[in-house]
Order: sequence, then C-alpha cells, then structure tokens
Amino acid sequence: MSKLTRPRIGFHAPIKDGLHESLLIAKETGCDAVQIFSRNPRGWMAKPLTSEAVDRFRKTRKQTKLSPVLIHTNYLINLAAADESLLLKSIASFREEVERAILLGVDYLVVHPGSARGSNESDAIEICALSLNLSCRGLKLGKLRILLENTAGQGQCIGHRFEHLRAIMDACPKFPLGVCVDTAHSFTAGYDIREVDGLEATLEIIRCTVGLKNAPCISTIRARLTTRASIGTGTLAKATSAAKLCGAWRGIRNSRTPRSSSKLRTTIRARI
Ligand SMILES: [Zn+2]
Repeated sequence: MSKLTRPRIGFHAPIKDGLHESLLIAKETGCDAVQIFSRNPRGWMAKPLTSEAVDRFRKTRKQTKLSPVLIHTNYLINLAAADESLLLKSIASFREEVERAILLGVDYLVVHPGSARGSNESDAIEICALSLNLSCRGLKLGKLRILLENTAGQGQCIGHRFEHLRAIMDACPKFPLGVCVDTAHSFTAGYDIREVDGLEATLEIIRCTVGLKNAPCISTIRARLTTRASIGTGTLAKATSAAKLCGAWRGIRNSRTPRSSSKLRTTIRARI
C-alpha cells in the first residue's frame, strides 16, 4: 500500500500526565493520529486550560507531527435531552468542549448525538441540531470539524442509523459537521460488517446518507467482531482518510422528569 493511501492509525491516549504527554505517548507507540479527552470524561466540571498547557500541547503536536488529532467530548453531554436542565447543562458543556478544542488547535471534536429518552427519535434529532447551533453560537471554529459518532442505539440513543446523522447534518447546513464511524456501534445497531458483503452494503448506506467524504474517522478498538483486525486495515479503513480508536462508550442516563419537546424547542430557539 502506498504511503499516500495508507490510513492514518491512532489510538485513544491517556491524559493523566498532561495533555501534551498524551501526544508523546501516541508518538512513542507509533501512531500517526491520536484521540484524547481534553478533561475528565465523566464529570461536568473541567479544569480550565492554562496558557502554558495550551502552548505545550501545540508545540508537542508540531514536534510529533500527529495528524489528525481528535478530542472526544465527555460522556455526560446529551444534546438531545428531553429534560431541560440536562439539555442546558449539556449545551454549556459542549460549548466548553468546543472552546477547548479550538484553543488546542485540534482537527476534530467527536460527540455522541444524544439520547431521546423521554421524547421520540424525530424530536431528539431536531433538538440535537438546535443544541449544536446554540452551543457554537458566536464561536469561530476555524479548521475544527465536529464529528457525530454513530451509536449502538442503546438507551434510546439517536444516531444508530446513518439517516439520523444525515438529518442532523441537514438541519445544520452552515455547520462543519461530519461523522465518526464506530464499527462496534454499527455492528450492535444491526449493520453486519463482519463479512465483505455486509461491509460493502454498510459502506453504500454511508455513501448514500452522510457521504464518505464526511466520514473521515473510524473507531475500531472495541469491535466485538471476529474479523476486527481485517476491518481495521480493510476496505472500511481504506475508504476513509483516517482511522481512530475510541474510548469506552457509556449510555447517557437521565432520571429527571422530561419536559415536552415543543417547550424545549421554544426554549432553545429563544436562545439561538
Ligand atoms: Zn464515542
């Protein structure tokens, strides 16, 4: 395989020793690309980024030449939440993630579209799109592209069909949205990509919905598939410009009383 067509491979690097250390670890491991969290993925509060940390990260990135660099957002965010307070908290938290990604100068920010628990799929898709717009209002994203990760569909999560992701993209025409294809989520959601036929059929669905050019990253690490090694280096990987490995996915729990979706829409629209 020529250098130009080889997919860029990376993994989800730990950040416990500092954000810049994650880049060094990835480089030492032989990665071309890397994904990180920019903060604790399981808490609402994030320590602000210091200018020293940002400088060190940017310098190390230059030295290591890792590309692309992805940030995966924290797991608490639910941009499709039916509960207003969770939704507003999620919008604020996602905005903070976007701001951090801009500061760090990364290429992609990966987010799960959210859970429709307490509402229905089409309302949740619409709320997710509104939330994305509201979260980024007034921010200059520059080269940053936001990637919606397809989900397994557990816990009423939207995004388990590529059509959902297309619908969110269509609802955000001015927004730099793309898709991160998680093979394990795809398989759990019913796309049988273990064999070539199923993989080709799934690729065709991706082509016809979100478009391959909008799906620059693939996550394969947790693929509970007998053929995961071949998928990681096979057609799906070749078809995209990069591969990435994703950290553990957790469903979003929302035990609060859901408000009606129309009220939520009004609330969000009033803020956009
Ligand atoms: Zn994920």
